[in-house]
Amino acid sequence: MTKVPELFGSMVFNEQVMRERLPKDIFKALQNTIKTGKPISSEVAEVVANAMKDWAIEKGATHYTHWFQPMTGVTAEKHDSFIQPSDGGAVIMNFSGKQLIKGEPDASSFPSGGLRSTFEARGYTAWDPTSYAFVKGTVLYVPTAFISYSGLVLDKKTPLLRSMDALSKAAKRVLKLFGKTPARVTPSVGPEQEYFLIPRELYKKRPDLIITGRTLFGAKPPKGQELDDHYFGSIKTRVLRYMEDLDEELWKLGVLAKTRHNEVAPAQHELAPIYSTVNIATDHNQLTMAIMKQVAEKHGLVCLLHEKPFAGVNGSGKHNNWSISTSDGENLLEPGKDLKNNLQFMVFLAAIIKAVDEHQDLLRLSVASAGNDHRLGANEAPPAIISMFLGDEITDLLETIALGKEYSNHVGGKLSTGVESVPVIYEDTTDRNRTSPFAFTGNKFEFRSLGSALNIACPNIMINAAVADVLNEFADELGKAKDFKSAALALIKREYMAHRRIVFNGDNYATEWVEEASKRGLLNLKTTPEALALYDRPENVALFDRLKIYTDKEVRARKDILLENYCKVINIEAGTMNELVRKQILPAAIEFSTMLADNLTKLKSFNVNTDTQYDLLDEVTQLISGLYAAVKKLNDAQSAVKAGAESGLQSEADLSVGVAAAMQELRKYCDDLESIMPKELWPFPSYSDMLLYE
Ligand code: ADP
Ligand code: MG
Repeated sequence: MTKVPELFGSMVFNEQVMRERLPKDIFKALQNTIKTGKPISSEVAEVVANAMKDWAIEKGATHYTHWFQPMTGVTAEKHDSFIQPSDGGAVIMNFSGKQLIKGEPDASSFPSGGLRSTFEARGYTAWDPTSYAFVKGTVLYVPTAFISYSGLVLDKKTPLLRSMDALSKAAKRVLKLFGKTPARVTPSVGPEQEYFLIPRELYKKRPDLIITGRTLFGAKPPKGQELDDHYFGSIKTRVLRYMEDLDEELWKLGVLAKTRHNEVAPAQHELAPIYSTVNIATDHNQLTMAIMKQVAEKHGLVCLLHEKPFAGVNGSGKHNNWSISTSDGENLLEPGKDLKNNLQFMVFLAAIIKAVDEHQDLLRLSVASAGNDHRLGANEAPPAIISMFLGDEITDLLETIALGKEYSNHVGGKLSTGVESVPVIYEDTTDRNRTSPFAFTGNKFEFRSLGSALNIACPNIMINAAVADVLNEFADELGKAKDFKSAALALIKREYMAHRRIVFNGDNYATEWVEEASKRGLLNLKTTPEALALYDRPENVALFDRLKIYTDKEVRARKDILLENYCKVINIEAGTMNELVRKQILPAAIEFSTMLADNLTKLKSFNVNTDTQYDLLDEVTQLISGLYAAVKKLNDAQSAVKAGAESGLQSEADLSVGVAAAMQELRKYCDDLESIMPKELWPFPSYSDMLLYE
């Protein structure tokens, strides 16, 4: 391998390459756009496009693509070659400023939730100069935003950029009251990505994995994760080769891949990058997921990014580490060592507490999907109830300010109330809580409810929006105050008292918490349809409208897209399960019962005790009857969904929950049969085969 610093970013049209390849004035103009978000002129775009093309061709590119993030959940690309006919039947390689800035994909097949009417079936993509272009394979990738002709948002990047603007503006207003005037305030995110790797030849024998991304049945392996020997365990050679290759590919693309380790479940692993601006982090996480799958192919493996590929084994999440910092390099979530800064920290903290409490629904629904419904609340991921962990130290401090309680100093000595007494909070003294959905971890919040497959733009739009809105409110109020300090203190006190129910430092997996949370009046939105039902509450529509992130039309369109996606996923899973049960599992079980029956008849002539054979046959036939009844129940549930679809998407989705439950019931019979049937008769590779490979 080439040295890492040389390799890193070698396929990226980054600042260094721009500096080398662009005339000085063009470079400056482009940098200005990148830093301030001001639009770019067509002259500048022309020069940049040409330089980009020459550079990309040197890296082996023959095509370019506008790369975007439609509402499908994956990224989209359409390749166009650089060729342009020239004299004498020859071609030249061309890429114009116009082609760089704007694309017009035929977008009619992307989900729009009815935003695009038939007369404006096209959408267009617009270059996002704040995210670097890169070459992957033979294609130059230009990161873009995707919008409809009338300017309606059709993707995940545009609202993310808008939410970043809203947050920056609001945070700057508050900082101004502290005498600080940074050019911009930006959210940073480090997403920890979990995934499974299984042998490709076995994957190919599991139609459920191929079609739905998860196993729809599968008996528990005799050895699962109970020994806790996989987490941080030594990495298998085959997997290590994969990880090395993956890191190298990611580094070339400028992704800051940093940490790799085995996760809790067998065959489960994690990759964490160094955090970056949320816009870049989002692009890079999408890219990371794509490269993970691609590199796996080379190693005879398959990378599974589904939130719950195997029942009874931990699912995969994605921890979203979020902080906000100024363009002067100050992390606003750093408790810091001097008291004055602590007042600022406490104001921002109070804003986040209020934001999370008031927008539990938005946070919850931003991570809602059919796949993630299998994880949340299943004692391996946070519950569906949103709460915050602040640690004893910060909680005590808030209680001190709000209730005048005596502060038990965690560092030493006693402190009285009032901001002057705010103690030094060292990163090391904040403890950890691995069960909280939204945990403060020293100088950032870790939102842990995300499923592994999710585009991180979704939750970050919500966090940014919710926090921005409260910061605006705080700025309005504090801006009018005569005595700023005491007003700030009074505000912290008031807001903490109003929202302290959202703070929970205990074990979120405990059943008592569910009761306690309900007493506190916190939402417990167990399923995706339940969560999505709240998306277009008038308060939410007003919030997005105020911050200019979504219009009411866009909110409703998004809700519809997500509901529709949920219904489709459940429908595909149910269809797949029905087919596999009827065509493969049921026949295999019947074959086994015939085998046992034949055996019984043969044994009869020997006058031996056949009780055992008889019992086994009885067990199998009972399971077969159960299986058949359960598959019919599944079909009934599917029919109910079809009938309910007439009353709209919400009722279709609500009824689909019943289909998910019917699948759950059906798989029990499959799993019981698998555990008593001979391996040769079972038509699919087992969990042990897939998870415990060498
Ligand atoms: P753990 O598994 O212990 O939570 P990891 O090292 O796996 O920690 O991941 C932590 C993630 O948080 C990394 O992506 C890291 O870059 C990111 N991170 C660290 N500090 C910040 C910060 N101030 N803001 C946002 N993300 C951060
Ligand atoms: Mg980690």
